[in-house]
Amino acid sequence: MIRLIDSPIRNDVERNRAALVEQLAVRFAERAPRYDREGSFPFDNFADLRKEGYLKLTVPRAFGGDEISLYEFVLLQERLAYGDGSTALAVGWHLGQIMHLRTTGKWPAETFEALCRSVVKDGTMINTFASEAASGSPSRGGRPETIAVAADGGWRITGRKTFSTLSPILDRFVVSAYLPDEDCTADFLVYQSDRVSIVETWDTLGMRATGSHDVVLDGAFAGADSRLTGKGTDDGGGWLLHIPACYMGIAIAARDYALAFARSYKPNSLDKPIAALPTVQQTIGEMEVELRTARTLLYAAADRWDKEPTERTAMKPELGLAKYTVTNNAIRVVDLAMRIVGATSLARANPLERYYRDVRAGLHNPPMDSSVIQMLAAQALGEET
Ligand SMILES: Cc1cc2nc3c(=O)[nH]c(=O)nc-3n(C[C@H](O)[C@H](O)[C@H](O)COP(=O)(O)OP(=O)(O)OC[C@H]3O[C@@H](n4cnc5c(N)ncnc54)[C@H](O)[C@@H]3O)c2cc1C
Repeated sequence: MIRLIDSPIRNDVERNRAALVEQLAVRFAERAPRYDREGSFPFDNFADLRKEGYLKLTVPRAFGGDEISLYEFVLLQERLAYGDGSTALAVGWHLGQIMHLRTTGKWPAETFEALCRSVVKDGTMINTFASEAASGSPSRGGRPETIAVAADGGWRITGRKTFSTLSPILDRFVVSAYLPDEDCTADFLVYQSDRVSIVETWDTLGMRATGSHDVVLDGAFAGADSRLTGKGTDDGGGWLLHIPACYMGIAIAARDYALAFARSYKPNSLDKPIAALPTVQQTIGEMEVELRTARTLLYAAADRWDKEPTERTAMKPELGLAKYTVTNNAIRVVDLAMRIVGATSLARANPLERYYRDVRAGLHNPPMDSSVIQMLAAQALGEET
């Protein structure tokens, strides 16, 4: 019978890529306990991702990449997260942002091409550092306290960014900043320099190996052509589905662990493994309801986003619903998996213990639950009567 994780695969190209990512996921799963325990950054995982061409998957073909669809992006991210949620979430920001720039044309064409060519040639990665302590989630529209001031030949940027995933490995990144002279906000491409420092603040419950430290900019220079906002089409933010894809992968890993346990664990009070017990079967069935409902929404949204480009802007509530359902259902699936396994699921040596902590982070990645609910309510109230 086909494995649940394989069920969205549609063709041989996807099957071959999924098989390659599965090998990476197996390797990363072996390394994950150490990085999680240390809260350190998995540089060797990223070296492997680079070697296998994973970092260029969303780069346009014209610049040497694979230009994969959103559907396939979700499929591969889910598979990677099955092995290690932290690595999948972190590389998801990079691949997702390249996809977003590809579809929106938000950056000056030469700047985007230079980035893409560098991804293909040197394994360069990118992320946006927008969150700050005072403004909270950028998705709520708070004004950054980071400031950009015009300087000779460009800009000087000063401020402190929080939750800066991938910061240990990036040589360049995007920051949002307020421009007091123009009373507006803009994004800037900033390179690592002696005016940029990483403060190792990332010591959290889950997603401990994402390197999401604080980044401090002390008059960091950005050239005149590094100001990025102002142009581009609205793609509805489809690329953000890498987030639910990650948490779905963690949930499927938890489910598979619980199934293997239920099939093999035979306490001496029983003459069959616990999988034969009606209570355990009930819990397994409940996991399937949560997983399959959420996954259907996730892949349907990704597929529609690929196939109906003119509908992308209008798809925001649908994309948000997929994220909302996946992240909440994934938390429930890990909880149910732990109920099947029992108290040994609490042990640090048991992967469920890490899944339980990692899966919780999904609530705090965008769009947040309250924003999704508001979007859906607005859409409902906007219907013609
Ligand atoms: C693992 C992980 C990786 C991340 N990686 C990145 C990254 O690479 N780059 C990046 O920029 N960010 C990143 N983030 C940060 C993320 O996008 C959010 O900015 C961060 O989680 C803070 O969001 P928040 O909703 O908790 O904070 P806040 O916006 O401060 O909200 C805190 C609470 O206050 C309430 N609240 C605050 N403002 C409002 C409002 N206007 N309306 C309604 N309620 C409100 C809500 O109840 C909310 O729960 C990451 C976060 C995590 C967990």
